[in-house]
Amino acid sequence: MINVKDLRKSFGDHEVLCGINQHIEKGEKVVVVGPSGSGKSTFLRCLNLLETPTSGEIWFEGNLITDPKTNINQLRQKMGMVFQHFNLFPHLTILDNITLAPIKLKLQTPDEAKENGLKLLKRVGLSDKADTYPARISGGQKQRIAIVRSLAMNPDVMLFDEPTSALDPEMVGEVLEVMKELAEEGMTMVVVTHEMGFAREVANRVLFMDEGNVVEEAPPQQFFQNPQHSRSQEFLSKVL
Ligand code: ADP
Ligand code: MG
Repeated sequence: MINVKDLRKSFGDHEVLCGINQHIEKGEKVVVVGPSGSGKSTFLRCLNLLETPTSGEIWFEGNLITDPKTNINQLRQKMGMVFQHFNLFPHLTILDNITLAPIKLKLQTPDEAKENGLKLLKRVGLSDKADTYPARISGGQKQRIAIVRSLAMNPDVMLFDEPTSALDPEMVGEVLEVMKELAEEGMTMVVVTHEMGFAREVANRVLFMDEGNVVEEAPPQQFFQNPQHSRSQEFLSKVL
């Protein structure tokens, strides 16, 4: 589904991604871990061209998306992204937040979008919040809404950048639960997170990044029980 070849990204003379090669299959759940500043967000943001790679190729569903001729908006419809901060529109109700994009892009009629939006709200247990404004709900609820807002576009891949890092601890579980359900339904997911329990439970593959390189990648059991690289060992000794 996603093929990354020698992806490099520099900011000025600082090379932040130093040649990433990755192949992500349909249905795969890839969890990206690593110290702060190692390039995890930049990698994720390159995948949907929120950052323009300095060089290298990214293929998505058979299309070379790093080609300047690519229709970026069409691409982003197929790649949902959830950030640390929820970025809900404060002046729109929860339901309108969810239906805005599919209606605006004419992917669904307003009636269809509403029906679909209500279904999505039900799925995350927030049906009663449809007419509420974002300021009136908790951080965990906002993040669950941000996830279903992405799902309203029927993406083929979901990218998550530390979706629980800004939450109060008691709200982390409810968001991870929604993500686990999504994983069980077969969604292709790339998740940057510090939640090692989630990585262990959900990942097919863990990528450990350090200083712009993927220095280790392994199935979670192997990565957590027997990390090979000294940098992974050091990282795990701090976070576990
Ligand atoms: P991580 O998500 O692993 O913490 P990032 O991908 O956010 O790491 O950042 C990797 C490096 O790139 C850091 O040194 C960061 O300061 C730098 N960086 C990220 N975005 C920018 C930017 N827009 N301009 C300049 N430097 C940046
Ligand atoms: Mg980051």
